[in-house]
Formats: sequence, C-alpha cells, structure tokens
Amino acid sequence: MNETEKIDAGQTSAMDLLKKSDRTPAQEVINVTRASLPPLSEYTAMLQDIWDSAWLTNMGKYHETLRAQLKDYLSVGAVQLFVNGHSALELLLQAMDLHGEVITTPFSFASTTHAIVRNGLTPVFCDINMKDYTLDVDQLESKITEKTSAIVPVHVYGNICDVKRIQEIADRHHLKVIYDAAHTFGEKLDGIGVGCFGDASMFSFHATKVFNSIEGGAITTRGESAELMEKLYELKNFGILGQEKVASVGANGKMNEFAAAMGICNLRHVDEYIAKRKQVFDRYIERLRGTEGLIIPEIPDNVTSNYAYFPVRFHGFRYQRDEVFMNLKKENIYARKYFYPCINAYECYQDQYRAEDTPNALLVSKEILTLPIYPDLSLQDVDRICNIILHGEV
Ligand SMILES: *Cc1c(COP(=O)(O)O)cnc(C)c1O
Repeated sequence: MNETEKIDAGQTSAMDLLKKSDRTPAQEVINVTRASLPPLSEYTAMLQDIWDSAWLTNMGKYHETLRAQLKDYLSVGAVQLFVNGHSALELLLQAMDLHGEVITTPFSFASTTHAIVRNGLTPVFCDINMKDYTLDVDQLESKITEKTSAIVPVHVYGNICDVKRIQEIADRHHLKVIYDAAHTFGEKLDGIGVGCFGDASMFSFHATKVFNSIEGGAITTRGESAELMEKLYELKNFGILGQEKVASVGANGKMNEFAAAMGICNLRHVDEYIAKRKQVFDRYIERLRGTEGLIIPEIPDNVTSNYAYFPVRFHGFRYQRDEVFMNLKKENIYARKYFYPCINAYECYQDQYRAEDTPNALLVSKEILTLPIYPDLSLQDVDRICNIILHGEV
C-alpha cells in the first residue's frame, strides 16, 4: 500500500478539512466534504450560558437539550449521547453483553469492525449485495453458527439495509441487531426513523457527517429502553453509579457542553443543509445518468434520504476508478475511495481474514469513488467534476 492509498483508506480528518479549507479559494481545493457550520454568532451566543454556569461537561444543560431535540428530530423512542460515534458503538456492544461471533460487513469505515474486536468479540464478515452495497441478506444465515450473538449491519452511504429480513433472521436465531447508522442521520423508511430498527442504532456527529457536533455520536432505540439507556449512561461515565459505587468497567464517552451547543446550532439548520445537498445530488444524477459503465445511486421511493454521499462505481467505463481519481486530483478535487481497502484487507486483520472471501465487497472497493458533496458545493463545480469524470478533463 502506498502513502496515498493509506491516506485514502481513512476518513477525511477534521484537521485535513481545516488545512485544506484554509487554502481555499486561492487553490480552489474541493474536498469530498466540508464541515457544516452554523452562523458564528449563534454559537457564540450560547457560550455565555456555559461561562455563567461554569458547567463544561458531565451531562449539562445543552447535553440534555440536544438529547431531547434529537429524540424528536430522529423520531426515535430514546437517545443517549456520546463523545463520538465510535465510542457509542463500542459501549453499546459492551452494554449488550455479547459473546463469541458478530456478523458484520467488510464494506464500511474501520470503526465498525474495530468496535467489535475491541470488545473481545470475533467479527465474521458477510458479503454485500451489488445493488446498494449493504449486507447481502441471502448470505446472512449461512454465516450464523452456535457462537453467533449479534449482527452489526451498516446503512452504508445512507442506503438503508433490508431491515425487515435481517430482523426475521435475527429473531429466528435469537440474535441482537445493532445498526451502524453513522451515514443515515435523519433518514426515514416508510416514515419510520431509521434509528428505530434493530435493538439499537449508532449515529455519528463527526465534522464530516451530514449533522455534526464537532465530534459526537448517539445510540437510539425505537422504544424508551430505560434499562439499556441507563446502562449506556453508566458505561459512558466510567461505570460510576453513585459517589461511592462503581458498578462496571466503563469508559469516558461523555459529550461536552461545547459539542452539544454546536449540535443544537447545527440542528436548527440541518434541513436546509440536506435540501442543499439534494440539489448537488440531483445535479450529479442529471449529468451522469445513462452513461455506459457508470453505476450511480438510486433512492427508493419509500426512503427519505439525507443525500450524505454520492458514490459512483466505474464498471466497464472508459476510465478506471483510479484514473478518474487522478484526473480529479490534478484539478485539486479530492474525491475519496470510500471504502478502499475493505476491512478484511486491512493490515491489522490480514492474518485472520481474506478479502477474496467477500468478492462483492472486494470488487466494489476497487471500483467505487465517492464524489464531493456538501451544502455549499456550487452546481458549477458539480458540472466541472462531471466533465472531468466523463471526458478526463475540464
Ligand atoms: C463516521 C463513522 C463511524 C465513526 O463515527 P465517529 O463519530 O467518527 O467516531 C462509524 N461508522 C461509520 C460507517 C462511519 O462513517
């Protein structure tokens, strides 16, 4: 793996974004995403309260406000907030008291599998389907053994998994279902909040996501799930239950007040962010639709999308994925190879797994490119990106 690939394997870090956006507009760098920011005055107005109360973290006023607002916005029964999405997922897996094997997808961000492994559990990779790149439910049952305790599917790119069939299979085998819903903030399936499916779902509020609290994350459930929510509260606060009682081996997963305030500000604007993303998304569709060798997203009628990503697969196209990547890069446009390599090809997992065992994920990881999409990306820039993709130059 060369250095560029190594960087591309990861997520655009917030530092990357800051560095690159500093250089805009002089070099007109376009990244795959750009953090959404509320008007600065809205944020600074909230800081006064924090200063007055001197309450900076540990489930303060803004933490509780954001929690209530998200419950409403996401149309879920309960929300627990965390310092980031990964920590939320790790602690959720711990709270579920799982054992043995956990079936998951190799076509995701590193966090999904790492959270399983860091809980002392064994990931078992199930391949993805070629339609929306989520778990191939036809293969799911064949991965279940007597050691399986849970399934961790990912709504990758905001494509909602086949939640109905996954639940049927899970019920038949008495397995927990935990969704990595990091890509699906605010999405709905048949009018139901995506955070209602399975036993629980994890959302990420990282700077690069549709909705951000700088860093942040949440676990949601369909019902009130009082017991699980209390357990999560305990685990994100070191397992402390009272001044003189530490009940479990928890971690520090608390969201602070500055992050919560950012979340409250961004939540006021998130519908507008999503509407602007839709314009970008629709322009890509308009410009790229019907081109031989390009496979572009399709949003089912019963899904309310957040337009988080625009993945394009180059399959029999005049240029290979890596050529398109380079053609864009020459123009200072940084599309990303999400998700390349797939997780079962990572250096840290190569002793235990073979990417060839999940051929669909392996193929897609080599053919896919996610194009820049964020609220303030201009349609002229989208046109420029499409010209480079289609013709190799502007
Ligand atoms: C962003 C992301 C995570 C991790 O979320 P953080 O808030 O960055 O910790 C997990 N899974 C997927 C699929 C993601 O995209």
